[in-house]
Amino acid sequence: MIPGSFEYYAPRSLSDAVKYLSEHKDDVKILSGGQSLLPLMKMRLSKPGYIVDIGRIPGLDSITEEDNHLILGTLVTHTQIEESALLKKKCPLLPQTATTIADVQVRNRGTIGGSVAHADPAGDWPPAILALDAEIKVTGSSGERWVKCDDFFLGLMMSVLEPDEVVTAIKVPVTGTDKTAYLKAVPRSSGFAVVGVAVRMAIDASAVCDRIALGITGVTDKAYRAERVEQMLTGKKLDSKLIEDAAAESTRNVDVIEDINGSSEYRAHLTHVYVARAIQAAIQG
Ligand SMILES: Cc1cc2nc3c(=O)[nH]c(=O)nc-3n(C[C@H](O)[C@H](O)[C@H](O)COP(=O)(O)OP(=O)(O)OC[C@H]3O[C@@H](n4cnc5c(N)ncnc54)[C@H](O)[C@@H]3O)c2cc1C
Repeated sequence: MIPGSFEYYAPRSLSDAVKYLSEHKDDVKILSGGQSLLPLMKMRLSKPGYIVDIGRIPGLDSITEEDNHLILGTLVTHTQIEESALLKKKCPLLPQTATTIADVQVRNRGTIGGSVAHADPAGDWPPAILALDAEIKVTGSSGERWVKCDDFFLGLMMSVLEPDEVVTAIKVPVTGTDKTAYLKAVPRSSGFAVVGVAVRMAIDASAVCDRIALGITGVTDKAYRAERVEQMLTGKKLDSKLIEDAAAESTRNVDVIEDINGSSEYRAHLTHVYVARAIQAAIQG
C-alpha cells in the first residue's frame, strides 16, 4: 500500500498554490486532510505526479460570523465543527452532521472543504450544505467566485471545480429558531451512509410547516434536494401520515443505486424511512 512517487509542494500563500495548480493542471492534486486522497493514492486509484499541500496557508482554518452567515474556511476539520460552540448555537445542523462522520482520527484530519471538493456520493457534508443553501467560495487563476451549493455537485465525485481551482470557504446561514437534524443509516463495516438525510425546517406553534429543505446522500451518484417532499409539506399542518406520504416521494425520478449494501428497492425503502425519521427528529428537536 505505497503510493506512486510525486513532487510535494507546501506553499505559504493561496496565490502560490493556484500558480502551482495551473502549471501542473493535468497531473496535480490538492492535499487537505488526506483522508480520501491518501487511501486512493495508496491503492493506486489516483496517481498524481504533483501534490500541493494547502495545510500551511494561513487563514483557511477559521469559523467566522458575518452578516447573519457563518463562514467556514476550507481547512476547518470535522472535529472543529463538532466542537464549535458558535456552530452549536447558530447552525447546529453542522455539528449534528460532523458527529456522524467516521471515527475520531478521520474527524481530526478530514476537512469540510476537502469533503465538499471530493463530492463523494455518500459523503455527509453535501446533503447538510444543500439543506442549508450554502455557497462555496472557489479561488483559481481567473479570480474568486461563489458557487451555489445546488450548482456545485455534478455527479459521481464530479463538481464544477476547474483543475486550477481551490475550494477556500463554505458560507452557511445562521439558522436561528429553525429545526434541524441529520440522520444516516450506516453499515458497520465502513461508516459511510447507505442513506443520509439532512433537514432544516421552520414550523409554527400549530405544527404548520412554513418551509423545509431536505438534502439526501448515499442514494444516487450525487447528493440531492428532495424537492417533491419539500413541496408536499410546505404550508401544511404536519402529521405522521402526511410526513410518511411525502417521504415516500423522496426517491421519485431518482436513479437509486444498487451495491453491496443492498438492492435499489431496499435503498429506496430505507430512504423513505430515514426521510420520515429525520423530519420527526427535527420536529422533536
Ligand atoms: C476510514 C474512513 C471513513 C470515512 N467515513 C466518512 C463518513 O462517514 N462520512 C464522510 O462524509 N466522509 C468519510 N470519510 C472521508 C473523510 O470525511 C474525508 O476527510 C473527506 O472525504 C475528504 O476531506 P480531506 O480534507 O481529507 O480531503 P483530501 O483527502 O485531502 O482530498 C480529497 C479530494 O479533494 C481534493 N481537495 C481537497 N481539498 C481541496 C480544496 N480545498 N479545493 C479543491 N480540491 C480539494 C483533493 O485533491 C482530493 O481529490 C472517511 C474517510 C476514511 C479514511
